[in-house]
Amino acid sequence: MLVHVCCAPDALYVLGVLKDNYEVSGYFYNPNIHPHEEYDLRLKETKKVAEVLNVKLFEDLYDDERWFKITQKFKEEPEKGQRCDVCYEMRLDKTAQKASQLGFDIFTSVMSLSPWKKADVLNRIGKMFAHRYKINFLEADFKKKDGFRKSIELSKQYGLYRQDYCGCVYSKDNKHENKK
Ligand code: SF4
Repeated sequence: MLVHVCCAPDALYVLGVLKDNYEVSGYFYNPNIHPHEEYDLRLKETKKVAEVLNVKLFEDLYDDERWFKITQKFKEEPEKGQRCDVCYEMRLDKTAQKASQLGFDIFTSVMSLSPWKKADVLNRIGKMFAHRYKINFLEADFKKKDGFRKSIELSKQYGLYRQDYCGCVYSKDNKHENKK
């Protein structure tokens, strides 16, 4: 299974759970993360998780110009609004494409772990790309079964960096409203 990962705390909990039933690899593709230093930090921390779990981690381009272009008209949207749908689409499209190219049977994303992410929308988009790239998608809502709280505890235990905003410049500017 190829698992889209967006940050170390989410990856540690979700990949750990999925490892019980799948042979998993991580895929770090997050051109939404701003600024670049924050992207580098989240990637570095995710690499630590891959090492702890003994999981292969693939990285892809930081094509932030494309991300800004496709989300431009939704920049005023609140978190969980339409901008997020487009942001999920961009990342899941690439994950499905990569999974198919690399010969994986199935893909999913850790993103539904966050209370600020819409699992129903992620699952709808995931299924759409699964169909397009002729691959399977695991529908999930990892925040269930107390997943979010457990991930906070685990990340403290491993001393991982935990961001206080979702990722994009807009969520960073409004981080006083939403805490990830
Ligand atoms: S708030 Fe998060 S999911 Fe929504 S557009 Fe920004 S980075 Fe993407």
